[in-house]
Formats: sequence, structure tokens, C-alpha cells
Amino acid sequence: MSFLLECPHCGERDVNEFRYQGEVTRRPPARPTLRELTDYVYFRDNVAGVQREWWYHRAGCGTWFVAERDTRTNTVLRTEIPAPSRPGASADAETAVAEPPAL
Ligand SMILES: [Zn+2]
Repeated sequence: MSFLLECPHCGERDVNEFRYQGEVTRRPPARPTLRELTDYVYFRDNVAGVQREWWYHRAGCGTWFVAERDTRTNTVLRTEIPAPSRPGASADAETAVAEPPAL
């Protein structure tokens, strides 16, 4: 299956130029409980609908960015380069974004 995805730098491209790196997750607190750590490492929401995801433009500019995509239709609603998060900074639930995952 193919669809178009808009890189914030390069514009709209075929999705095969990108690497999907999973749902945007939230880092657990500095001293997580076993349950918080297990949830962070192993479980994803896997929603049928709009979800925020990490993407990497591997065949282009090499930018990590976040896309909001409807998983039912592969419609990409928007893409953005999130602001860097600062260790120890508190962020509200709507804007908190963890660092991009390691390749
Ligand atoms: Zn790009």
C-alpha cells in the first residue's frame, strides 16, 4: 500500500521514502514503577483512527518529524517537526512528545 506523506522540509513524497518509527509515546517519570516502565517499553495504543506517529525521511533530508495519520484510511492530516523537549521540564498532556526512537 502506498500513500503520500508530506515531509516538513521536502514537501509531499511517496511514503516509501520514509521509515515509520511508531506511535508518539510519553516517557515515564524519572523513577517509574514497574507498571509504568512496562507500559512504556511494551505497549502501544494502536488506535483505529487518528494517531501521532514518528516518521524519518530516510531517502531524503534525514529529518525526524511527527505526523497525524488516520490509520483507517492512511490520510495524513498534518506533519510537524516537534520542539525539542528538555529533560526535567514539565509539559502538558497535549504537547508532550518524547524524543524520536533510536534506529
Ligand atoms: Zn525531507
